Amino acid sequence: MILDKYPAVLQAVPGGKILLTTTDDFINLGRKYSIWPLTFGLACCAIEMMAAYASRFDFDRLGVIPRPSPRQADLMIIAGTFVKKMAAPVREIYHQMPEPRFVIAMGSCANCGGPFHDAYSVVKGVDKVIPVDVYIPGCPPRPEALIYGVMELQKKIMRMKLAKGGGATLQAEKGSRDPAGGA
Ligand code: SF4
Repeated sequence: MILDKYPAVLQAVPGGKILLTTTDDFINLGRKYSIWPLTFGLACCAIEMMAAYASRFDFDRLGVIPRPSPRQADLMIIAGTFVKKMAAPVREIYHQMPEPRFVIAMGSCANCGGPFHDAYSVVKGVDKVIPVDVYIPGCPPRPEALIYGVMELQKKIMRMKLAKGGGATLQAEKGSRDPAGGA
């Protein structure tokens, strides 16, 4: 059960049980099981991403449900070769997503340019344009690898804290460069 590993205090009282927890844990648990990725793929890795949504792997059981609009999504999976021409649109779409938002770089191309590292048109890693939370190696990574990457993101979400202003902070953990910077 979810509550077995939940960071909370479960105490028996007369007539039932009482659950004590923190706002952070409560909100993080909701975020953890409702990760909604943007429906968005760039190249061959996107085929593996689509397979992860299909019946054999069934991403839905983790609460991962693709959304067609960046305004409804909180995860961007960069699945494919990231060319310079796509840098500006991807940055714009990223900023259209509500916070807290997350990015997974799926495959060698998204991580560092992959087999096209030497090409003039390829960005040597999507983290030169937007901050990345989880990197998944492989060319291509299998759907199981993407699922593992999402589970690592879930662990990261459970460590999030609410900032004083009410927003969630995770920026310090991100291996990010300037998101407003150029490719
Ligand atoms: S990492 Fe490999 S499979 Fe993925 S987009 Fe690049 S060339 Fe295609």
